Amino acid sequence: MTDSSHAEFRIVGGHPALDLVNTVSPRLRGGDAAHDYLTSPAELLAWSRRIELVDLRDFSAVEGTWRSAPELAAKALRATLEIREATYDVLAPRADGAAVAVDGVKRTESSAFERLMLRWSAAAARSMLIPDPARARGVAELVVGTSPAQLIPDRLVVAAVELVRTVDLRQLRACPVADGGCGWLFLDRSRNHSRRWCAMEDCGTRAKIRKLGERRRATGVPAI
Ligand SMILES: [Zn+2]
Repeated sequence: MTDSSHAEFRIVGGHPALDLVNTVSPRLRGGDAAHDYLTSPAELLAWSRRIELVDLRDFSAVEGTWRSAPELAAKALRATLEIREATYDVLAPRADGAAVAVDGVKRTESSAFERLMLRWSAAAARSMLIPDPARARGVAELVVGTSPAQLIPDRLVVAAVELVRTVDLRQLRACPVADGGCGWLFLDRSRNHSRRWCAMEDCGTRAKIRKLGERRRATGVPAI
């Protein structure tokens, strides 16, 4: 898979649903300077492969279906973006460091839950429980995404609902917008809950440089 045609961006969420939320940068509520990395079905497909939401076989099936029916590709992209925004609206108010407008959070949140639920029930209708006696645990496999056209949004919404149901809120953080971070959501799995930035190499370093500049100005040392 080649991503060289568009900017490579980091995959740092620690969960596919958070990686989906982080396909807008910066992740600010109502921020109009945001860059969207999912603007075409081709970008969505490449990204899905990159985060291993689809294997090579699924990739070919989706690509073939979308090529012969572009309207289905556009529909899948629209569904994906709705799932992305609903997931963000549901999780951001609980993420430490996110930029969330206080007004109307309750209202947005409940309609976001509704949107997730509708997408999830459609995905469930397209899922299959396949008996598998050879399994070590359980007796059947749940296959999400039996329809190639909608396979990607179906898997994403199932992942999003799973995260919403099970996320450990002590781990859910946002790259701190108030300190110049990008607002991306991630799971902080560090042992002492010390991860602050989406990536130290990006927002962490930028914040450090800015702080250094502020200190220089405050102490009267001229900047270079
Ligand atoms: Zn960041």
